[in-house]
Amino acid sequence: MDGPAQPVMNGPAEPQCSAKGCRADATWQLQWNNPKLHTPDYRKTWLACDDHRVTLGQFLEVRGFLREVTPFGTATDASIS
Ligand SMILES: [Zn+2]
Repeated sequence: MDGPAQPVMNGPAEPQCSAKGCRADATWQLQWNNPKLHTPDYRKTWLACDDHRVTLGQFLEVRGFLREVTPFGTATDASIS
């Protein structure tokens, strides 16, 4: 046993796409709200790669949940909930 300093493979939150099975880097954040579950000012955030920005966005949009899509990984603050 040599020491504790090995990086852990699945360590703290890397910004990856939220789509199932996708491990691409997230470049977009989709902010949404389900009025049946959330208060009106609450925002859930999904992260998405370029491809899944469309599919995840459509998933939310047909349900009327999608509120905002913003670039992720820029200087803007990105709180993930
Ligand atoms: Zn993806």
